[in-house]
This record gives sequence, C-alpha cells and structure tokens, in this order.
Amino acid sequence: MQEQQETEFTRKRLEMVHSQIVMRGISDQNVIRAMKEVPRHRFVPIQFEEDAYEDTPLSIGYEQTISQPYIVAYMLEKLELQPNHKVLEVGSGSGYVVALLSQIVKEVHGVEIIAELVNRSKFTLQTLGYQNAYIHLGNGRNGLPQFAPFDAILISAASADLPSALTEQLRIGGHIIYPLQKNGFQYLELGIKQQNRLEKKLLVAVRFVPLVNNST
Ligand code: SAH
Repeated sequence: MQEQQETEFTRKRLEMVHSQIVMRGISDQNVIRAMKEVPRHRFVPIQFEEDAYEDTPLSIGYEQTISQPYIVAYMLEKLELQPNHKVLEVGSGSGYVVALLSQIVKEVHGVEIIAELVNRSKFTLQTLGYQNAYIHLGNGRNGLPQFAPFDAILISAASADLPSALTEQLRIGGHIIYPLQKNGFQYLELGIKQQNRLEKKLLVAVRFVPLVNNST
C-alpha cells in the first residue's frame, strides 16, 4: 500500500518536472535531476501531501509557505551552481530547497528564524538521509559568518533591501538571488559580486513572504 503510494508520488513528481520545469525552459541538468529526486511531498504538512506536485506554493504552517516548484528551479538555475560549491539559503522553512541544493552542490547551509521549522526541517532532512545539509536557527539577515564565504546565496523571503552582511559573505564572482520589495510589488533580482560592487539584474515578478527584521 505504502509502496504503491510512493510510486504514485514519484509518477506525479516526474510529471511535475516535465510539465512545470523542463517545458517552461529550465535546462540546468543538475537542477532537473535534483527536482526529480527530492520528494517534495515529505516537506509539506501531511494534509497537503496530495497537492505537493501541483503548480503552486503550499502552506507549511506559521504563516509560511514552501515556494512554487518552478520558481525554486528558476532561482537555482540562475545561481549557476557547481558541484564543488558551498551555498547558503536564507529562510529555509521546510528544508525543501536545502534538500535540492544538497543534491547539486558540496555543502549547503540553511538559516531559519522560526524554531519549530528549524526542528521539523532538520528531522525531515535527517530522515531522508541528506548528509551535506545543515540548518541553523537565527536571523538570516546576518548570514552565517562562521561558514563564509559562500559561492552562492539564495534568499527565500522578500525585503526592501539586500542585507549587507549577505553580500559581504559572498565570494567574488559568486551569485546571489533574492526577492526585492519595491512600490508594493516584488521582483527577483540577481546579483553577481565584483571586486567593489554588486552587478545587479532585475528578473521576474514574484510573491514571497516577508524577510522579517527581528534582531534575534
Ligand atoms: N525555501 C523555503 C521557503 C520558506 S518561506 C521552503 O522551501 O520551504 C520563507 C522562510 O523565511 C519562512 O520559513 C520564514 O520563517 C523565513 N524567514 C523570514 N524572515 C527570516 C529571517 N530574517 N531570517 C531567517 N529566516 C527568515
């Protein structure tokens, strides 16, 4: 019975990757492979398991959401990830993006401000056996200086500014992608770090939960 259910989830996941990811133009083979492998249904609350491969964000409790699969794939592709990279995700929530990253790069660190989500995502990642993935409790606006520099940074919550600690913790040539809040709208922006500045590119309109400002 359970085996049958897992086969059905796998079928839905492969269909999701084909219709929502590949057909919409994502071509990074490592991103595609990771999306085929990571069981998104294990990262959502049990009552949403059946919806895990729909083309939509889903609630993960605490007024937070797991992002739409396509947006996640889009952000990962823009980071131009390499197998030897060390990556930071700010706002790691359910741990889904961290799990994907763990299948693409050498080492991934997620930072999350809600303790319950930290505990739950750690448990999920451990149960599924992701070894090179670490979740930390804290305010992601400060980054994780003890693990810097990062080759790439992905921010999963929207802010009017890009916290300076994060660009400081990015290596020269590294890519950072983040949703920027501007005049009531949100846009994804990609930054590539140069010697003395960040070269920025405005991408597509998006909707993310806010990056909270607490000093905890
Ligand atoms: N990538 C996550 C998305 C979670 S939604 C996933 O796949 O599930 C964004 C997350 O950012 C939420 O869990 C929220 O609690 C967290 N967040 C918001 N502000 C934060 C901050 N300042 N520091 C760390 N995490 C933050």
